[in-house]
Amino acid sequence: MKAQPQASHFIDGEYVEDTDGTVIESIYPATGEVIARLHAATPAIIEKAIASAKRAQKEWASWSPAVRGRVLKKAAEIMRERNRELSELETLDTGKPIQETIVADPTSGADSFEFFGGIIATAMNGSQIPLGGDWAYTKRVPLGVVVGIGAWNYPQQIACWKGAPALAAGNAIVFKPSEVTPLGALKIAEILIEAGAPKGVYNVIQGDRETGPLLVSHPDVAKVSLTGSVPTGRKVAGAAASQLKHVTMELGGKSPIVVFDDADIDSAISGAMLGNFYSTGQVCSNGTRVFVHKAIKETFLARLKARTEAILIGDPQDEATQMGPMVSLAQREKVLSYIDKGKAEGATLITGGGIPNSVTGEGFYIQPTVFADVTDDMTIAREEIFGPVMCVLDFEDEAEVIARANATEFGLSAGVFTADFSRAHRVVDQLEAGTLWINTYNLCPVEIPFGGSKQSGFGRENSAAALEHYSELKTVYVGMGKCEAPY
Ligand code: NAD
Repeated sequence: MKAQPQASHFIDGEYVEDTDGTVIESIYPATGEVIARLHAATPAIIEKAIASAKRAQKEWASWSPAVRGRVLKKAAEIMRERNRELSELETLDTGKPIQETIVADPTSGADSFEFFGGIIATAMNGSQIPLGGDWAYTKRVPLGVVVGIGAWNYPQQIACWKGAPALAAGNAIVFKPSEVTPLGALKIAEILIEAGAPKGVYNVIQGDRETGPLLVSHPDVAKVSLTGSVPTGRKVAGAAASQLKHVTMELGGKSPIVVFDDADIDSAISGAMLGNFYSTGQVCSNGTRVFVHKAIKETFLARLKARTEAILIGDPQDEATQMGPMVSLAQREKVLSYIDKGKAEGATLITGGGIPNSVTGEGFYIQPTVFADVTDDMTIAREEIFGPVMCVLDFEDEAEVIARANATEFGLSAGVFTADFSRAHRVVDQLEAGTLWINTYNLCPVEIPFGGSKQSGFGRENSAAALEHYSELKTVYVGMGKCEAPY
């Protein structure tokens, strides 16, 4: 099989198998072919992974932050050297075109290891608090064993965005990739060993929605970081709360992009296309509700239609391909059913709406789709579709569009396109979201915090802020005199 790893799990520095676990088939989305067969972790594998992480964490945390940082920077270097190989694997795992994976997947993972490896030498510093004669100091300490649970849209990036800050802060991690994309995380685990990390600080185990709860409820786990849907987030956060564990929740969205009538229209169309069609629309922060001012609606739609119809859909391994298939047949079925709802509820189909004729075979391809005249109450405007389906809604008034943009349970991201900078800042100030863009969309460099508000989650990934979610403060009061008591 094309992408069969040595074994399903990577624990304590080596590949481990337990064939008693349920079979997980890794399917190449462009052909429907099974490219690897793995096994979900059995309870014995889970115990082994957590015990290994628990053991390794003590040693790892005893290293100075600068020395830990050196290992992470080395891992970044190896990832960059192997970018093509890792990107090809990511393309097999997800079906995303090589044109994307080569610039967005292992590279963003490497950025994360490089960034946290670099800042950690000073980022764990505490403070000294004078109290007259006495004084106190604070230390930033790791949490212990962290569990990371990933979604299938950015498997390698998610494995690194959780692993890098967790490890930098001195934790060990047990990472469970999505059962849909089990391959990439194993390579990250291998690379960390090669870079000099102690065995057991980064373990990968396979599994599905049955496996996840066993990790979350394990008494030796101090924190859970999930990237997934809102319903899964509710379950995971609930289970973690019952044992008072730390959590980071990176969940779904239905984010707005607001295009005012003074915006550079082509630039706004680029933002809307990036925020709906990149990764075949399977991006959590996508701006799937595009509010376009009525005065520019016709021009916007005409140019958007032409540009959308020019997208090259096809073989993800061909460098020229701009859009690959969806990750799975089930996900394509789900998206097609939303497209049917859009048509049935009266939205105007501008382009797309089905399976492209240009691609033959068994791949899970779908056309990039644009609906106009979408109203706030339509299903396609309310629910996360997680596919290349853009909804264009009309608006005329600033206050009206802000209220409508905020009228959702989600709050992951938002974007504004306008030439008027005071308006841009005024509007983003009122939009309810964790990450917002002005005159661009979906750029998430490692230097800036990323995460959601409302039902889209809490906690932040990337930037120094992420370290706060993988460590805690310890306060030490130092008494300099005799201890006095009233009795
Ligand atoms: P999902 O919620 O179905 O699964 C996510 C992960 O959780 C998988 O690894 C799955 O096995 C595991 N899981 C499922 N049930 C579980 C449970 N009860 N306990 C523990 N683990 C459990 O999501 P998905 O379909 O893989 O990914 C798509 C979703 O992820 C979308 O909603 C998308 O918006 C979201 N997402 C969010 C971000 C972000 O950073 N905010 C990034 C990517 C994807």
